[in-house]
Amino acid sequence: MNTSAFYDVLVIGGGASGLAAAITAARAGKSVCIVECDVACGLKLLATGNGRCNLSNESIDPQRYNHPAFVESVMGPRPEQELMGFFSSLGIMTTSEEGRLYPRSLRAESVRDALLNVCDRLGITLICGANVASAHKASEGWTLQIDRPARALKAKKHDDRKSELRSLRKALTDVPRKNEALEAHAVIIATGGNPTGIADTFGLPLTSLRPILCPVSATVVGDRAALKTLDGLRVRARLTLTRNHSELWHEDGEVLFRAFGISGVAVFNLSRRIQRGDTILLDVFPDLSKDELLDMLNRRVELLGGFSPRDPRWLDGMLAPQLSRVVCT
Ligand SMILES: Cc1cc2nc3c(=O)[nH]c(=O)nc-3n(C[C@H](O)[C@H](O)[C@H](O)COP(=O)(O)OP(=O)(O)OC[C@H]3O[C@@H](n4cnc5c(N)ncnc54)[C@H](O)[C@@H]3O)c2cc1C
Repeated sequence: MNTSAFYDVLVIGGGASGLAAAITAARAGKSVCIVECDVACGLKLLATGNGRCNLSNESIDPQRYNHPAFVESVMGPRPEQELMGFFSSLGIMTTSEEGRLYPRSLRAESVRDALLNVCDRLGITLICGANVASAHKASEGWTLQIDRPARALKAKKHDDRKSELRSLRKALTDVPRKNEALEAHAVIIATGGNPTGIADTFGLPLTSLRPILCPVSATVVGDRAALKTLDGLRVRARLTLTRNHSELWHEDGEVLFRAFGISGVAVFNLSRRIQRGDTILLDVFPDLSKDELLDMLNRRVELLGGFSPRDPRWLDGMLAPQLSRVVCT
């Protein structure tokens, strides 16, 4: 007979939220299993904070969220202290930069490793490479059918993490699979940004989706190839969002140029307000007024001599060379 494994709590999705929820439930004495569709848990964590993982801010103010009252009711009045308590209970020491907290190692993988180590110590079962095929409410909780790799994934050893991950994902597509039933008193869905599939499986209604934190695809007006030459460059800038020539919003902070558009903290913050067809003005000297900038450029004529107006050498020492070239073009 095919018997089901039983858990008090089943967590679907082993990202930052799922791992934290699983640890919290296990610390409360519950038996816990995480079902993760990717080859391992916490993979997205590795890319956060430019590979350093910005764990929290020193000060988290519910007023800065879209629904402050709701946020305060969920997070409590001093969420930063609870977060710090949680990370410190995982053994993570922190360091602060401009009010942002990072692991002292400045490595995102140490955050993921600490979460996984604690899962291991608490006896949390991790089932990776698994999909939830169906979910049924039973009198005592839930019965889930999952399909999962029939054996452990094997991949060639690689020196770098990305190649190893690629091999594992390839192995996941090749490995035979099997079905398994899981039962649980409670299910926590922590599948991240796009819950459409899992909401269908559980018959849950969804509010309409909209981006809240993402890079923005874009082109430089008048120079479609520009972003290719800027790919990977980071600058501090003021971004002003304009629609039909009206200024709607601005954000100050780091911008990362990518071949497909722009990314970085300031762009993420702006992304929730952007619509297709909008224009973003990028000011790389936000601390200078237009007159002050013109004065400074005029002084550079005396200092540097008479380059032609479109010569990027005007901006030597002010901007990265590849950005100077785009600006002058
Ligand atoms: C480039 C970048 C940098 C960021 N930097 C930071 C930062 O420094 N600090 C910060 O706080 N936040 C940062 N964020 C945001 C942060 O990554 C997310 O808020 C966080 O990952 C959300 O965690 P989560 O567990 O809800 O979702 P995810 O991390 O997306 O995890 C969801 C998990 O569920 C799995 N899953 C999805 N569907 C299923 C399914 N049907 N069945 C089983 N498993 C499923 C996924 O494979 C994944 O492992 C950054 C985001 C990006 C894109």
